[in-house]
Amino acid sequence: MYTLEDMWMIPSFFQILFPSQCFGCRKNNTPLCPRCIRLTRKSLSSPYPYITSIFDFKDPLIKRVIHASKYYHRKDLLPPLVFELAQEMKSVPDLHLYTLVPIPMPRIRKLLRGYNQSELIAQQLSKLLSISVSTSILIRTKTPLRQAVTKTRSERIKNQHGSFGVDGEIHSTHIILIDDVTTTGATLEEARNVLLTNGVQSVIAYTLAH
Ligand SMILES: [Zn+2]
Repeated sequence: MYTLEDMWMIPSFFQILFPSQCFGCRKNNTPLCPRCIRLTRKSLSSPYPYITSIFDFKDPLIKRVIHASKYYHRKDLLPPLVFELAQEMKSVPDLHLYTLVPIPMPRIRKLLRGYNQSELIAQQLSKLLSISVSTSILIRTKTPLRQAVTKTRSERIKNQHGSFGVDGEIHSTHIILIDDVTTTGATLEEARNVLLTNGVQSVIAYTLAH
């Protein structure tokens, strides 16, 4: 018997049809080859100074990969990108003091998708960097409208307001928020403010793309 979580481990149709192709060049025996990753545009900007993103979300391949990892269950596409993110994060001073906290998804969306891709990213980073990850510190307290529905920056910030809370007492003084993509930074900003007002000393954020 499969549990709901196991169901998403079943390969996607793409993986069944093309089990050994790179998602970018359709060659090479890997989900996403090093050459395709090397050719992607890297992120040069950030909505807030404490946020670091490594890939440019306007890059067509990055956009397709992240979309597929979210909506087509291509979780196998994430590790090659997460590996690059981990290399970047090695330069964080006192990295061992930090706990990774993925941005939680609204419960109904996680139930429908079966997984939270930010959680998967944080778990892989935790293994690569040997630092802890917590999915219980930060919780969703309301479901915001989809970002696409909100138009202006101030609308997005208002939409995220009150989205997060903390669960119980926080023992981590240093937290790295993890998300797959940031656009205006409104989600990370709201999560960071909640953690800072609940006694966390330092909150920075890393995302795959911006
Ligand atoms: Zn390739």
